[in-house]
Amino acid sequence: MNSSIIGKIEKSKLYAAERTRMRVTTLSVEFHGENADHQVSLTDNGWTCTCEFFHDHGACAHSMALERVLQGMLPSHADSRLLTAKAS
Ligand SMILES: [Zn+2]
Repeated sequence: MNSSIIGKIEKSKLYAAERTRMRVTTLSVEFHGENADHQVSLTDNGWTCTCEFFHDHGACAHSMALERVLQGMLPSHADSRLLTAKAS
């Protein structure tokens, strides 16, 4: 393998451990929930989810799960109000 490719692979491993280098700005995820599939999105306005709980509360298990997966890489407007309330 080309030595410069090997160098890039090594650097990618270091980068992957430095989550604060990355900022997720938009995202679209097909989420397989326990009862149904949902479409979860992150936009400039924050999270959206097609589930009923999100419609009523502005956050849900799906959006909060993605917040945990992407911890350290999300813009401040992606902070869930429910998560913040529970953490404090
Ligand atoms: Zn949801």
